[in-house]
Amino acid sequence: MRERRSGGCLCGKVRYTVTLEEPTYSICHCAMCRKWTAGPYMSVHGKGDDVSFDVDEGLTWYRSSKWAERGFCKECGSSIFYRLANQPEMLIVASVDSLDDASDITLHRHIYVDEMPDRYVFADDRPRVTEAELMVEFGIEPGGDAT
Ligand SMILES: [Zn+2]
Ligand SMILES: [Zn+2]
Repeated sequence: MRERRSGGCLCGKVRYTVTLEEPTYSICHCAMCRKWTAGPYMSVHGKGDDVSFDVDEGLTWYRSSKWAERGFCKECGSSIFYRLANQPEMLIVASVDSLDDASDITLHRHIYVDEMPDRYVFADDRPRVTEAELMVEFGIEPGGDAT
């Protein structure tokens, strides 16, 4: 079910449409995502060359590491996008709740569970993936960092 979805930030100065890879979301528990979003980062995947912006006057990119950039609205502070800076086919990861309608989107898995703090738990039984396992999946050498 690949259809274009619309979404945006809290104030409306970022509005986008994107085709989702799958109607599922992942939850990242890494320390940087938690600091950036004030909680686990729940994201859906699309392609960077597929996303289009109806409004982008609020959109600002922050280079959070040598690997990654994070896109947010400078007006209202909504944390929306994440992408790998060095990939030609750029992956855009939109915050699931930036979508206008996320009601049919289901949980795929948890990532960076080795950075998950003890103060919260999720009750689902979806897969839990560590940073090391994810680096292998992304093809990033040991010691690299995708956050
Ligand atoms: Zn905004
Ligand atoms: Zn993260």
